[in-house]
Amino acid sequence: MLRLYNTLTRKVEDFKPINPPQVGIYTCGPTVYREVHIGNFRTYLGADFLRRILEYNGFNVTHIKNITDVGHMRHVGHGHHAVQIDPIIKEALDQGKTPMDIANHYADLFFKDENKLNIKKATKYPKASDHVREMIEIIKILLKKDLAYEIDGTIYFNVKKFKNYGKLSGNTLDKMDKLLKAVRVSVETDKKDSADFALWKKAEKGRLMKWQSPWGPPAGGGFPGWHIECTAMSIKYLGDTIDIHTGGEDLIFPHHEDEIAQSEGASGKKFVNYWLHGGYLLVDNEKMSRSKGNVYTISDLEKKGYDPMSFRYLTLMTHYRTKMNFTFDALHGAQTALNRLRLDIETWDKPKIGCAEYEERFLEAINNDLNMPEALSIVWELVRSDYPTSAKAESLFRFDEVLGLNLKQVQSSKFKVKSLEIPQKVMDMIKEREELRRQKRYHLADQLRNKIKKMGYNAIDTKKGTDIKKI
Ligand SMILES: [Zn+2]
Repeated sequence: MLRLYNTLTRKVEDFKPINPPQVGIYTCGPTVYREVHIGNFRTYLGADFLRRILEYNGFNVTHIKNITDVGHMRHVGHGHHAVQIDPIIKEALDQGKTPMDIANHYADLFFKDENKLNIKKATKYPKASDHVREMIEIIKILLKKDLAYEIDGTIYFNVKKFKNYGKLSGNTLDKMDKLLKAVRVSVETDKKDSADFALWKKAEKGRLMKWQSPWGPPAGGGFPGWHIECTAMSIKYLGDTIDIHTGGEDLIFPHHEDEIAQSEGASGKKFVNYWLHGGYLLVDNEKMSRSKGNVYTISDLEKKGYDPMSFRYLTLMTHYRTKMNFTFDALHGAQTALNRLRLDIETWDKPKIGCAEYEERFLEAINNDLNMPEALSIVWELVRSDYPTSAKAESLFRFDEVLGLNLKQVQSSKFKVKSLEIPQKVMDMIKEREELRRQKRYHLADQLRNKIKKMGYNAIDTKKGTDIKKI
C-alpha cells in the first residue's frame, strides 16, 4: 500500500484514488520569463518520482502541469520609475520582443531541461493564455454565489465568505488580520478586506497583455490573477475533485490556499484529496538569490562539466520533504557515484530472474512516502551483493523505472560512460583560486590558473563563479 504525507491533514495516509486504477495529478508549473532554476527542478523531480511510483504500483496516471505564460502583476508607475512590473512584460520590454515570444522561448528551454533530467512528459502542459475564457467562467460563478465582488473592473475573492479559508496553510482569517495589520504593503487599497485577493485585474493604461472581460470599461481589458489559472485548468482537465496536487512548499500560501477557496467556492466540492509539497533547496546553506549570484540553472551545471543526470541522482539522496542543501562538492559526489554505478553495470550479464528479497524492500521504501534515500541505499546493497550479475541487472532495471537514471542504456553498445570530466584536484584548485580572487590576490590567482591549464582545463570567470572547460 502506497502511503503519502498529506499537507492538508499533516499526516502520512494510505493513498486511495477516486477511480482506481486512474490517478490524476496536478502540478503547478513554471512561470516562463527566464530559465527555471534547480530549486524548481528539485520540486518537479519530486513530482516525477511520485508519478513513476504510482505507475510502478500499477496506477494509470494523468499528469497535468501548467505553463504560466500570462503576466499576473500590475505595472505601477512608468518606465524606470515603476515600483512594480510584471516580470514577463519586463523581459519583453528589455529584449524588444512580445510577452508571448518571451514565454514561448523559456517554455521551450524548460521542456529541454526536463528532458535532460529524464522527467517524464506530463500528459498535458496547458498554457494559462489558452484558458482565459475558462477562468472568466469560474469568476462569473463566484460572483453569482456572492463569493467575489467587483470594484472598478477588478474582481476580488471575498475571503470572509469562505468558511474553510486557512485549512491548508493554517493562515486563518483572525491570524491573517494580525499579520496584515503588521505589514500593510499592499498596493490594492480598494478591496473590502486586506485578506481578499484578486481574481481579475483591470489593465493599467498601455498594458501589453490583456483580454476582454464582462467587467470594467468595454475597451479597457484586464488580466487574470495567478491563482485562478490553476483552478481553471485543474477542473477542466481533471474534474472538480482531484487525487493529488503537488508544488513547492513556498506555494502553500497564498497560492494553494487561494486555489482551494476558488475551486471549492465554485464547485461546492472538495478540490484535492492529497496535497504534496516539496522542501526548499538551499545553495551552500543559503537561500538562492540573484543578488548573491547563487541561482543555478541546468545549463550552469553543464557549463561546469556536470551531466544533468547527476543532479537527478543528487535529489534522490534527500527525502522530498526535507530541506536540501546543494553544493558543488555534493554534486561532484553524486556524479562520481552515478558513474561508478554505470561502470559496474557495463560489466554485467544481460538481465535474467531478479532478486525477490531486494525487490520487496525497494517497494516498501518507495511506498513509504517516497523514501528515495532508503531506496538508493537498497540499490547499492544489491550492487555489492553476491547475487549473479544477471539477477542484479533484472532487479536494478526494474528499480530504474522509478529512479529514472536511464541505467539500461549503459548496456547498449552506443552508450559510453564518460569519466567525470573534472577531477577533484582541479575542483579544489578552482575553489582555492576563487578564494584568492575574493581576496583580490590576482597575481596568485593567475598563477593558479596556469597550473589548472597545465592539467588540461580552462578556468573562465563569470558572475556566478568559474566555468570550467576541458582544453
Ligand atoms: Zn498553481
